[in-house]
Amino acid sequence: MILRLILEAVIAVLVISMVRSVIGIIAKALFQSAMRPSGQAPHRPPVSSGGELKKDPVCGTYISAATAIQKKVGAETYYFCSPGCREKFRT
Ligand SMILES: [Zn+2]
Repeated sequence: MILRLILEAVIAVLVISMVRSVIGIIAKALFQSAMRPSGQAPHRPPVSSGGELKKDPVCGTYISAATAIQKKVGAETYYFCSPGCREKFRT
């Protein structure tokens, strides 16, 4: 009798823990799908990825400071779109 009660208690504990883990997985999946914006990718302005925009003094093109070719002349830093523009630039 006592053995059967213990067995039933063990089974009950196992079933409860299984059910809880399944509910947890379902709840997590539901939560993630609810949190995901519908069809909208996180929108970021293009400036934040490329950094500050600088003007090429040779051809007048605007390039991001992060990717531009830089040339320091004294205290000034000039930004160029290409090595060709940098070569053309004379101070
Ligand atoms: Zn240029």
